Amino acid sequence: MKITKLVPKIIYRVGAFSGLEEILKELFPVGSGYLVYIIDSVHQRTGVRAKLPKKEKDLIIDVDVSEHEPRTSQIDEIRDKILTEKKGEMPIVIVGIGGGSTMDIAKAVSVVLTNKGSVTDYQGWDLVKEKSLPKVGIPTLSGTGAEATRTAVLTSPDKKMGINSEQSMFDAIVMDPELLKTVDRNQEFFSAMDCFIHCVESLGGSFIDDLGRSFASVAKKMTVDFFLKEKNYGELMVASYLGGCSIANSEVGVCHALSYGISLVLGYRHGVANCVVFNQLEEFYGPDVKIFKNIVRKHRIELPKNITKGITEEMLNKMIEMTYKMDRPLTSALGKDWKNILTREKITNLYEKM
Ligand code: NAD
Ligand code: ZN
Repeated sequence: MKITKLVPKIIYRVGAFSGLEEILKELFPVGSGYLVYIIDSVHQRTGVRAKLPKKEKDLIIDVDVSEHEPRTSQIDEIRDKILTEKKGEMPIVIVGIGGGSTMDIAKAVSVVLTNKGSVTDYQGWDLVKEKSLPKVGIPTLSGTGAEATRTAVLTSPDKKMGINSEQSMFDAIVMDPELLKTVDRNQEFFSAMDCFIHCVESLGGSFIDDLGRSFASVAKKMTVDFFLKEKNYGELMVASYLGGCSIANSEVGVCHALSYGISLVLGYRHGVANCVVFNQLEEFYGPDVKIFKNIVRKHRIELPKNITKGITEEMLNKMIEMTYKMDRPLTSALGKDWKNILTREKITNLYEKM
């Protein structure tokens, strides 16, 4: 039975962040407890951190996601830090403020605080046993849809894979388009294209239904309009959310399956890796690759080139192995016999073009 799950509480308003204290009080009264803010360290510069309604007992954890995407070791460390500092007392709520990386860290920490062992035990589908802690997501970069999904994407030494569980879904999200204004233009493009690609992949896959299709088609149009018509940040933020809703109830496809290999082995960030891959996927997503290329041209985006040049056999194999772990997305995209379509030779050939 397919059950569509959505974040139950959403506050969407220009300027909503300035009312965060009231919002949190309404959603999760902490009483004599405390809350943990997990915030992208870029916000020490943007001024967002200074506006947090931190009470004496609350904890702020600044995470630097500028160098790499969330790692499993980082999640276990944050959990240990919270428990050590608070002598085992659990927070009432976790608030994650930032892009996909920071929101995923917040989701993953909420899971390992109540589930024993390392977070690596929960990378996969529906492996989380105990109820996680309540959490609120506040996106400051749009595109990944992490605010809407049941996924928290993490990289461990041998794989990039999400915790995919109801327990890694936010209980509430606060969406304030004003928070997007400080994002660098290139980053804005790469993250927003993640949304566009989510929509293209979910619409092209067999796991989608009419509900997911409606989320994805609206989100896709809003994202394209943002780049080809007018930059409306409210619409971009909503598009990211809707793209997440569509993917949460369907699957990604060929682009994500190949891009995970690139991120894992070559270290490219998700948005960038996706764009490098999507640029070569005419065979699978022809008309949408054309739209993508129009956007790249209009906004003079420089896509990295020749990124696989000179890679060793061992690296290539690891990238192919990573792609082969993406059974669900590839089944949705290409059918049960996807291994006959996306053969090792085909994957090698595609990677060589990038
Ligand atoms: P990100 O969170 O990694 O941030 C990218 C850069 O933008 C960072 O340097 C960050 O500091 C900066 N940034 C964020 N907000 C800013 C702001 N308001 N002003 C200035 N700079 C700001 O980027 P992302 O594209 O949002 O997230 C990528 C991550 O999301 C990857 O790890 C990817 O795997 C994951 N992801 C998760 C899901 C999901 O469903 N959970 C879906 C897709 C991707
Ligand atoms: Zn993505």
